[in-house]
Amino acid sequence: MIAPGSTIGIIGGGQLGRMLAIAAAQLGYRCHIFDPQKHPPAADVAAEATRADYDDGEAMQRFAAAVDVATYEFENLPAGALAALGEKLRPGTRSLAVAQDRAAEKEFLEQCRARVAPWRAVESVADVEAAIAELRLPLVLKTRRFGYDGKGQAWVRSEEEAASAWEAIGGQPAVAEAGVAFSAEFSVILARWADGRHVLWESPENSHRDGILRRSTVPCSQQVALQVPRARETALAIANALDHVGVLTVEFFASAGGATVNEIAPRVHNSGHWTIEGAVTSQFEQHIRAICDLPPGLTGLIRGSATMDNLIGDEVDRWPELLAERGAHLHLYGKGEARPGRKMGHVTRVVR
Ligand code: AMP
Repeated sequence: MIAPGSTIGIIGGGQLGRMLAIAAAQLGYRCHIFDPQKHPPAADVAAEATRADYDDGEAMQRFAAAVDVATYEFENLPAGALAALGEKLRPGTRSLAVAQDRAAEKEFLEQCRARVAPWRAVESVADVEAAIAELRLPLVLKTRRFGYDGKGQAWVRSEEEAASAWEAIGGQPAVAEAGVAFSAEFSVILARWADGRHVLWESPENSHRDGILRRSTVPCSQQVALQVPRARETALAIANALDHVGVLTVEFFASAGGATVNEIAPRVHNSGHWTIEGAVTSQFEQHIRAICDLPPGLTGLIRGSATMDNLIGDEVDRWPELLAERGAHLHLYGKGEARPGRKMGHVTRVVR
């Protein structure tokens, strides 16, 4: 057990790292943030910060020596550099390796008997054309690595679009994935302990715009609820196969054929922000409990329902009005510039 008073290293200092550090502080831990940026949002709420590139081996070694356990808030990290952390890294490098390459992820999901959209690995326009012939239209190209919030993705809706879509994703190794005719999107968020114990939260129904999450709502609608039990089994099979420690999020499409996995995130997730005020134990606190091997906290809803809305770009300018709204829980991430598409904060409403 990593007892309160110990130091938790967090690799990546964005809003997820920030909310992890806040939850860790509540339990009496100190946090040390590792991030290449000058002013990462998480460093404002942490005891220490290392500013270095993720592949700076020496800096990572010093960081490894300074922390008692380490975790990450995003998956696009060079796996080699994290070797310095050895057993201190939770979740381990297997969860990271699978989640950071979309082709490896899909192969792994198929091994776990999870339903995924038909897909092919593509490395050229000719491959994209062959994928169109095999998978039919529409399909979506997603770069194998470094994609998030719909970045590194391009839809192909006609044969003529093959070349322009390939160009739009920068001609990088990618997966071509059949478009899923879904009726809704939802996620399964769970936390798993090293000995296999696990907890699950209510599954949020998620709506996206331009590839970015806008809103998560619990409980989900009736049509999604019907697909949740099977999806939970799938998510648990994935967590067990990874020997995952900490929070794991699996995003699903609810479709006529059943729950189809879109992608996995080996970490706390935007669709779980509602748990801060909406659940007995938040995803952030639970992640800290799991990686430190503390007992699991309860995950039930505090009240009947909760809705989380992201504040993206200049939507954050609404903060005075949101602060004035009774019962609205405002979270601002302390990011300087409100660029379009940038997640600046969120607001949660817990009702009934
Ligand atoms: P991703 O970054 O893979 O989570 O994709 C962002 C969003 O794009 C998803 O939440 C969906 O709304 C949409 N999307 C991604 N892949 C597909 C697909 N194969 N079929 C339909 N919609 C998709």
